[in-house]
Amino acid sequence: MATLTITQASCADDYDPNSMPVAKAREFIHRFLQPVDAVLRVPVRSALGRVLAEDVLSPVDVPAHRNSAMDGWAMRGADLKPEGETTLEEIGSSFAGRPFRGEVGPGQCVRIMTGGVVPRGADTVVMQERARASGKSVSFAPGQKTGQNVREAGEDLAAGSVALRRGRLVRPADLGLIASLGIGEVPVYRALRVAFFSTGDELKSIGTTLGEGEIYDSNRYTLFGMLTRLGCEVLDMGVVRDDPKLLERAFREAAAAADVVITSGGVSVGEADVVKDLRGRLGEVGCWKIAMKPGRPLAYGRIGGAHFFGLPGNPVSVMVTFYQFVREALLALMGVDPVEPVPTVSARCTARLRKAPGRTEFQRGIVSREADGTLAVRPTGEQGSGILKSMSEANCFIILGDATGNVEAGTPVEVQLLEGVV
Ligand code: AMP
Ligand code: MG
Repeated sequence: MATLTITQASCADDYDPNSMPVAKAREFIHRFLQPVDAVLRVPVRSALGRVLAEDVLSPVDVPAHRNSAMDGWAMRGADLKPEGETTLEEIGSSFAGRPFRGEVGPGQCVRIMTGGVVPRGADTVVMQERARASGKSVSFAPGQKTGQNVREAGEDLAAGSVALRRGRLVRPADLGLIASLGIGEVPVYRALRVAFFSTGDELKSIGTTLGEGEIYDSNRYTLFGMLTRLGCEVLDMGVVRDDPKLLERAFREAAAAADVVITSGGVSVGEADVVKDLRGRLGEVGCWKIAMKPGRPLAYGRIGGAHFFGLPGNPVSVMVTFYQFVREALLALMGVDPVEPVPTVSARCTARLRKAPGRTEFQRGIVSREADGTLAVRPTGEQGSGILKSMSEANCFIILGDATGNVEAGTPVEVQLLEGVV
């Protein structure tokens, strides 16, 4: 369990709440994350996108039998002359699923196909391109090596060894691997329950008409999408007005129903920012100003037994803070171990980017491969934190570190691909 308390982060020098570096905030949040404890056994297919709660051990050797890596003939390696051709007598065949039952003696060979069991007596396979058959008499080219083209039983995975580790987010290849071991069910962590609501007097739900100064709530839709992609169970609690009583009730309801509560809006320094004022009453909640753009204000804490993320209100800020902080935290709570950060690559920026040093910017970009094979990236037009279109068009974040100033066209920049992440 973490030794630091959440609010300490607001007082310790290292964690100046007015300019918390992105990496520090991330590191701080991770001290408080313990995976959900309930485990269930599910059929293989249902494990897709879930997290393994135990190591999967191989009950069998993979491959199960010594088999051929090539189409050709199997024989005793000692029979093959190092120089000059060797002629052997073909005494049968071993095809995948139809093994040769006898034993290969001196001077003999067996026709074998890829995956066919290497018969007793044989230890070597010569591929058919290096052989010449005339009836049952087969001649092999010189220069073969004993043991070649033979895959040993247990070579890929020995019986009893770990096929997949606890903490693995199961992907399609893993489903195949589990099936290849003959395993029908695996233990996975239960899905993480995430409740979310939007705060703001100006917000309307779709299906209603907008009055003056009102806007449609879009954050609940992006949150729904991002959470669903992660495999979370979502609980959409709608829009809550900027009223301390209503907000407090919503927080308590959400925390009672879910493992994680996510809100948007109400954490900046505006007059109506009541989430901030509620924090003492709700639990242990730290409000930070992260040295980043967009997404400067961020709240993190515990309300009852639930983790709480208070995201900014601006639609792009919601998505950026989700991908930079919440996603990794949710993966850890889902049981993923280790949680790997989304990898970044370097790409040449084709436009000049305006940037002031002092905080990390996550500009929205479109990365593509140039004719010369290198990666190039351009920003998606206007970068305002309210312009959701910039996020919709983007396939990457252009990450400009704290120290970076303006970026001249042609300069390499760090790019975080969103494909497979979003
Ligand atoms: P706030 O952090 O509450 O001051 O909100 C910052 C900006 O984001 C304001 O312009 C809000 O109108 C806008 N905003 C807040 N919540 C939402 C939402 N759920 N959907 C769309 N825009 C929002
Ligand atoms: Mg608001």
